[in-house]
Amino acid sequence: MTTTGLPFDNQDLLPAILDWVRIESPTTNAAAVNRMIDFIEADATAWGAEIRRITGTGGMGDLLLVASPGAQEETPGILLLSHIDTVHEIGTIERDLPCRVDGDIAFGPGIYDMKGGAYLAFAAMRAAVISGRSRPLPLRYLFVSDEEYGSPTGRAHIEREARRAKYVLVPEPMNDRRIVISRKGVARLKMRITGQPAHSGGRHQDGRSAVREMAWQIMRLEEMTDYDRGLTVNVGVARGGTRANVVPAEAALNIDVRFSDPASGAEALKQIQETSPHFPDIGIDVTGGETRPCFVRRPEVEPLLAKARQIARELSMPLGEYASGGGSDGNFTAAIAPTLDGMGAEGKGPHTHFEQIRISSLARIATLHLRLLETLS
Ligand SMILES: [Zn+2]
Repeated sequence: MTTTGLPFDNQDLLPAILDWVRIESPTTNAAAVNRMIDFIEADATAWGAEIRRITGTGGMGDLLLVASPGAQEETPGILLLSHIDTVHEIGTIERDLPCRVDGDIAFGPGIYDMKGGAYLAFAAMRAAVISGRSRPLPLRYLFVSDEEYGSPTGRAHIEREARRAKYVLVPEPMNDRRIVISRKGVARLKMRITGQPAHSGGRHQDGRSAVREMAWQIMRLEEMTDYDRGLTVNVGVARGGTRANVVPAEAALNIDVRFSDPASGAEALKQIQETSPHFPDIGIDVTGGETRPCFVRRPEVEPLLAKARQIARELSMPLGEYASGGGSDGNFTAAIAPTLDGMGAEGKGPHTHFEQIRISSLARIATLHLRLLETLS
């Protein structure tokens, strides 16, 4: 399809996206994340944006707030929200996922989740500002450094910005031209099990096996999964014991819970948190809880969704919608302000070594953002 007449060109957007992708920025490496933030800050400063850099805490990188010039502190505006951390460790780009272009597809670490989309929204904001045309609402763009870790340090800043937002746009990966109108809630828990150690030969009867208890608990937890209710309980990590000839005194589980509605989530969490041991003389300690609330489709989002779809139709890019099982920072904003998520680049393979975006869709998606930024009121 031709993109003639659009204010963006796929072939201009692509190299700029690849520049972002080449700055590897795993959540675990604050210095690397900060190099990415430096790069965005320099760009935004050059076109006159108002910048606030928020120093990272807890070993995470910095956050960056980029605002359109003259945006009054308390005037409600449009919040663009992206994370610039990725799940790919430094060196992925050399070893496993080189930055490369093959026909209509571009590959690279984090290109789909979510540097491609993050850049498209950034380019739209820059175009909106430098055009000098008047806009009904101020624009603010928050870049988060720890989303792939559940945004432990980003959350408070995200919620603060959402409170002064009239609308929130989250350019997380777009999926088959569908955007996200709801997301499951997420909880993470750790179950520590303690028993009594003993020599497996001489004193087996004195031991109390934490691993045996763990096995029983794994079955119970996994059986809580109820696809009809949109509830999954996944024991992702199970560790226990030290040696074959010792009755294991310790075991631990890492548990991921996803839920489509707050009530199912609360019920499942309570059940896990109140776990009592099945076998005698065993101790169980559960920590953790909800990390992302449910992103529920609320009536307030309908006008925003309708408008986005209308613009997309005009761009010959009809948009579908879907409910996602994955969490994002949109989970935090959806309860506070109308939020459209999954507004980023089209592609596939998030978090994999074949992560990719479709080049021919870039200009249309950037234009969709630009028209929203220029016309939402
Ligand atoms: Zn993401």
